[in-house]
Amino acid sequence: MKTGSINVTSENIFPVIKKFLYSDHEIFLRELVSNAVDATQKLKTLARAGEFSGDTENLKVRVSVDPEAGTLTVSDNGIGMTAEEIDKYINQIAFSGATEFLDKYKKDGASIIGHFGLGFYSAFMVSKKVEIRSKSYKDEPATMWSCEGNPDFTMDTCDKAERGTDIILYLDDENKANMTLKYTIENLLKKYCKYLPIPVVFGKKTEWKDGKEVETEEDNQINETQPLWIKAPADLKDEDYLKFYHELYPMAPDPLFWIHLNVDFPFHLTGVLYFPKIENNEFRRDKIQLFCNQVFVTDQVEGVVPEFMMLLHGVIDSPDIPLNVSRSYLQSDQNVKKISGYITKKVADRLQEIFNEDRTKYEEKWDDLKIFTQYGMLSDEKFYEKAINFALIKNTEGHYYTADEYRKLVEGNQTDKDGQLCYLYSDDKVAQYSYIEAAKAKGYDVIETGGQLDTPWMNQQEQKQEKCHFNRIDSDTLSNLIKKADAKKVEFGESERRENNALLEHRLPSHGRDR
Ligand code: ADP
Repeated sequence: MKTGSINVTSENIFPVIKKFLYSDHEIFLRELVSNAVDATQKLKTLARAGEFSGDTENLKVRVSVDPEAGTLTVSDNGIGMTAEEIDKYINQIAFSGATEFLDKYKKDGASIIGHFGLGFYSAFMVSKKVEIRSKSYKDEPATMWSCEGNPDFTMDTCDKAERGTDIILYLDDENKANMTLKYTIENLLKKYCKYLPIPVVFGKKTEWKDGKEVETEEDNQINETQPLWIKAPADLKDEDYLKFYHELYPMAPDPLFWIHLNVDFPFHLTGVLYFPKIENNEFRRDKIQLFCNQVFVTDQVEGVVPEFMMLLHGVIDSPDIPLNVSRSYLQSDQNVKKISGYITKKVADRLQEIFNEDRTKYEEKWDDLKIFTQYGMLSDEKFYEKAINFALIKNTEGHYYTADEYRKLVEGNQTDKDGQLCYLYSDDKVAQYSYIEAAKAKGYDVIETGGQLDTPWMNQQEQKQEKCHFNRIDSDTLSNLIKKADAKKVEFGESERRENNALLEHRLPSHGRDR
């Protein structure tokens, strides 16, 4: 038996862990299950390197609760730890075991790296005592380690026969009732562990028999080990993408398009982003879910993806995004900047591709895509440069044009005497009907606007395009909106007369006629 003090740089790290380390106490489960999964992945890595010859088929993580004892246990049949390793990785907590392991197995490292810092010690956020019982894959006696939330621990051999590690949490009074509830734990596992690569099992599946819920023989596996985003796009059909979308967002209507992201260099990133159908002009910005090696991290992705991309839905998975750090740090992180730039480029390229491949289909979806594209153009110069080729202008007749096409369409007729191109727009087709008709009669074209970002977008176009301005169709007479020649004679032709009448009609106050 060995006793000792945990070697930490600060006096006593436990109060810090309990109170400040993570605002979210529930993530302890994510940390422990991730460690357990890492331990099984490490065993596979050893097997591939020829250093472990046993079975790697039935690797599993089991989570169980014992309400009477007030314990929660996370067990794995992974690599295990020898006494020496517990001493090194757990007692000397400033030292991260992952770093050493990664150095040794560099090529395979990305899949097992733990980005979670003080992962194991987060167990103390909810426990008064934590026990480790571990048997290494190496032929050494099993070890038991125990610590009661202070820098003192005990270590001894124990009688665990099976390879792997059990982490037993003796829940503190505050958490005992809640954290031994089946449904609390099942929900936490579903939130954080739903797509982990190794089966995570929580008890047995149940069924209803004679009016009672009874346990079956079948393991209650929480997770899908092969989520869609890690599969090859070539192996996936539209139905697969739609099914996954509805799994993530059960209430949402079908998305418009999706993009499968997959990059190895200069950082690792996989994921699928969906363009949602926007209903009632309603956006929710917390829809993209961020994962790190299939572990759910957050759905607050500010800083990781550009602001306008937050209108998208889906999943991003990257081991290269630093986790558990402050937002300001995240925003200045070079990897994050690269990731954000990459996603922007991919999204723009995909839209261009759909535009090129099937213009009709693209136009059909444009009304839903418009706000996203305009938001991107207004807030991100790089996106603008690409999007200017696929952002569409819709006229009051319902025809769609790119900015370039539209310019060509109207420049002959709508350039004024000073060489300014005058775009005409209507933000209310019904109220401005007579103006639109008058303009059409002169052979002018009218753009339909009225979207939330149309005004800033038109301002942007005025700055970007040389010599052009946008005028609302009812803001003046047509001859003033597009001045063709110096008005020498004030003599109305037929069309001006009609136009003036329309203007007058519109301006007339509604008099008491109807009362
Ligand atoms: P990190 O995972 O970031 O290295 P942790 O505090 O979570 O930090 O874990 C420290 C180390 O302890 C791990 O790197 C690993 O070597 C070891 N470890 C933790 N849990 C397990 C486990 N279930 N099986 C085997 N080793 C483990």
